Amino acid sequence: MSQLQERVETLHELLNQYSYEYYVQDNPSVPDSEYDKLLRELIDLEEAHPEFRSPDSPTVRVGGQAQSTFEKVNHDTPMLSLGNAFNEEELRKFDQRIREQVGQVEYMCELKIDGLAVSLKYENGRFVQGLTRGDGTTGEDITENLRTIHAIPLKIKEPLTFEVRGEAYMPRQSFLSLNEEKEANGEQPFANPRNAAAGSLRQLNSKLAAKRKLSVFLYSVNDFTHFNAETQSEALDELDQLGYKTNQERQRVDNIDEVLAYIEKWTEHREELPYDIDGIVIKVNNLEQQQEMGFTQKSPRWAIAYKFPAEEVVTTLTDIELSIGRTGVVTPTAILEPVRVAGTTVSRASLHNEDLIHEKDIRIGDSVVIKKAGDIIPEVIKPILDRRPEGTETYHMPTHCPSCGHELVRIEGEVALRCINPKCQAQLVEGLIHFVSRQAMNIDGLGEKIIHQLYEHNVIRDIADIYYLTEEDLLPLERMGAKKVENLLEAIERSKANSLEHLLFGLGIRHLGVKASQVLAEKYGSIDHLFHVTEDELMEIPDFGHKLAQSVVTYLENDDIIALINKLKDKDVNMDYKGVKRTEVDGHPDFKDKTIVLTGKLHQMTRKEASNWLELQGAKVTSSVTKKTDLVIAGEDAGSKLDKAKKFDTPIWSEEDFVDKQKEIEG
Ligand code: NAD
Repeated sequence: MSQLQERVETLHELLNQYSYEYYVQDNPSVPDSEYDKLLRELIDLEEAHPEFRSPDSPTVRVGGQAQSTFEKVNHDTPMLSLGNAFNEEELRKFDQRIREQVGQVEYMCELKIDGLAVSLKYENGRFVQGLTRGDGTTGEDITENLRTIHAIPLKIKEPLTFEVRGEAYMPRQSFLSLNEEKEANGEQPFANPRNAAAGSLRQLNSKLAAKRKLSVFLYSVNDFTHFNAETQSEALDELDQLGYKTNQERQRVDNIDEVLAYIEKWTEHREELPYDIDGIVIKVNNLEQQQEMGFTQKSPRWAIAYKFPAEEVVTTLTDIELSIGRTGVVTPTAILEPVRVAGTTVSRASLHNEDLIHEKDIRIGDSVVIKKAGDIIPEVIKPILDRRPEGTETYHMPTHCPSCGHELVRIEGEVALRCINPKCQAQLVEGLIHFVSRQAMNIDGLGEKIIHQLYEHNVIRDIADIYYLTEEDLLPLERMGAKKVENLLEAIERSKANSLEHLLFGLGIRHLGVKASQVLAEKYGSIDHLFHVTEDELMEIPDFGHKLAQSVVTYLENDDIIALINKLKDKDVNMDYKGVKRTEVDGHPDFKDKTIVLTGKLHQMTRKEASNWLELQGAKVTSSVTKKTDLVIAGEDAGSKLDKAKKFDTPIWSEEDFVDKQKEIEG
């Protein structure tokens, strides 16, 4: 057998297996994107080598198969699938092909509801039978389960005999409570609302189906004889009038550019819907034109489904890398074969700790499912056990620090492994990186690479050494010109004037975050006062627990630290609090006691910085817009929060408005 033929057979096998898991068992083992990728590979292979085409190929088959537990019923007209488009180029090709065939067209854009297709038969206006799609030709009779869905009218306004088709789905809220219940009962939760809907409709107890709170959107009719409609848009309106539930987000558009705008809108807003959608369906609006175009074996030629970028994909985990943080925590990171997911390329994902790796049984060499939804950090969901190569081994974290070789310890009550060697190079370098970071001393231009080089060349050993750097130290570094050196030295010099809280945070005292640094700086005014503070005194400060109080006191008692502070003082690094004291200053009236929401991307500061600044002005910064929100500060690409603010007539400022105000206040 040729290599190509072997691949074709493997693809048949895999696609059939995945279809069975998805359509019959309602329990897929791989994400949709993986199925789509393999199907695309097979389509391309068949196109290039027509001799490999076969009548039972997954490329021509629709859906799964009817399950034997239900009565099998033939569809009067086949229930087909839809062709897919994954990007603008494919959509434009679709549009071009259509216009070449039937001339000018209007399109109907509809949300692609992520559920399962159902066909509902009515006789003299009464619901008599409901079927799943099955393999497109034969479906399963799930009438009794469908009867429990309130959105399906058992009787319609006119005594029509016809068949209407749509998508049954489970609203997100029902899905969440169903899975909560399942978990509480120790049962396996459903992977997603689609599988939950399919599972609920394809089980034999209709009482159970009734509890599942399913719904349906109807979107087509098999035969328009009894309809006046000349377009899909009019047909949907007629369905509305008959008492059916159709999706109201649909939009009739004039051309492909408007289709693209509709797609863009829903790509951004899909999370606000109370149900899942996995794309947009684009249909030629005119029914006569639809007829003219007809069908392929698998799908109509007059419609296409645009699929949103996948949020779950499969890739290979090639290695597990360890990084040592500034507090000595050793974190395992998955190194991945780079892969596109939710619009960006992902090549690493944190595995957090050894317990989690064991819980999920993740091994080097595994094919793994990666998830990244929108802005959320990529995560390794699970390995695909079927694809585990031979010879993989359970992963064990090392017993010794990969940087300094010191034995690692697992502190009681913590899952993390830690290197406790205070001289560990990796920790020191991380500490330096933290010291110069934005919320700490904010030294522009002193990036990770430069710090690594300076450390390796023995030029800096501790944070104070940064203030002893000279032109001669910096010039020999890679990609360092005279101008860059000048800027860097200036940034270092500038940072000396920072208010005390920046230095405190920059020192990297365990458990002392930005907010607590601010509180300490404000309360004690200078580092010298802090040297005399006791644990008990610190614990009187709201939100200061024992761990934090102990950590601050122990840190400042250490002789090495005292020497370090003196070394900084010798270079005139400021050790006093320079900010406004909340107790003394009332905060600007625009912000004091106001509830403010930040949204979108800010360019001149991070959201955290903006929020710290606002809090200093006495504002309360919250994450969601409600009627009580006093002000929304919206950066670039602000989404739903901005829409909500508009709805509530909340005042909205741009980043520029905000920066102008800051300048005005700070003079
Ligand atoms: P499809 O989901 O790509 O598109 C066709 C379906 O869209 C229709 O049958 C209909 O049910 C639905 N639909 C929703 N809203 C609609 C609307 N407004 N108008 C018209 N139709 C609408 O095709 P398919 O053949 O049902 O299934 C393929 C999908 O199943 C792919 O997403 C694939 O990834 C997934 N799948 C996954 C696995 C897996 O293992 N994960 C296996 C098989 C299939």
